[in-house]
Amino acid sequence: MTPLYDIRHPAFHALIQHNVGLKQLSSGHMWTEGPVWVPAHQCLYFSDIPNQSILRWTPDGAVTALRRNSNFTNGNTLDRQGRLVSCQHGTRTVVRTQTDGSIKTLADHYEGKRLNSPNDVVVKSDGAIWFTDPTYGIMGNYEGYRSVPEQEARNVFRLDVETGTLTSVVGDFLQPNGLAFSPDESILYVADSGTHTDGTAPATIRAFDVVGGVALTNSRVFATIEPGVPDGIRVDFHGNLWTSSADSVQCFNPQGMLLGRILVPEVVSNLAFGGPRNTHLFITATTSLYAIHVNTEAAICSYRSTHLI
Ligand code: MG
Repeated sequence: MTPLYDIRHPAFHALIQHNVGLKQLSSGHMWTEGPVWVPAHQCLYFSDIPNQSILRWTPDGAVTALRRNSNFTNGNTLDRQGRLVSCQHGTRTVVRTQTDGSIKTLADHYEGKRLNSPNDVVVKSDGAIWFTDPTYGIMGNYEGYRSVPEQEARNVFRLDVETGTLTSVVGDFLQPNGLAFSPDESILYVADSGTHTDGTAPATIRAFDVVGGVALTNSRVFATIEPGVPDGIRVDFHGNLWTSSADSVQCFNPQGMLLGRILVPEVVSNLAFGGPRNTHLFITATTSLYAIHVNTEAAICSYRSTHLI
């Protein structure tokens, strides 16, 4: 039997549950992404990008469609009011689902040019929306609509929701992808899933110091992922960073040391903490949604807002 854990440091034992297995909650999808736990409805939303769907898993085991014709929605998160914020490849936008169910476009252009294809998104405690804008959703017609990029860079953006001002906070990534703040929001982590023209991939997660809550400085490599490249990432309330990779979810401590891995039988795209008692780690991996019980939970708990939809 294939082992479930690859423990690299004793500290990993305190973060996992040894008497549990990895459970496949749903399968038969095309490319799952964008998991987010929604406490107000006690369910998990996740995307199936090529199938143009946002799906909903509930603890009774049912998987139903939250939204069809999702415009190739990729990453999802909740804002401080518990509203769903999503990245759409098809419209090349970041959108918010309003409390009346309508969908409001929050960002679609930067410096007068269309965005590439927003990929993943987080909301800071001040309500600002930070998201990545690689070109995956316009490279072909599988996860979006093939198009020539208008942006000169693949940026990480900060959107001031109050003013609508969109600012590039860093623009030197090959393909910025997952992103997450440290528990005190003093550090932003950003995954680079891109490849150089010679086919090599840095496969790095970079860390930045957050200046004044709005800008980034002091770029450094936090971790290098193998096998594969990092896609979605999350930080737990201890400050450990959990990342996707080709064969596992990998956990790094705040100093960038690999503590251990949870082996997954499909290429992992993203992950999310949550569940009815906040003991689940949900994992989107290629055709499936998995979950495993862990002994830690999310750092940034916007979903604990008292103003949930
Ligand atoms: Mg992604």
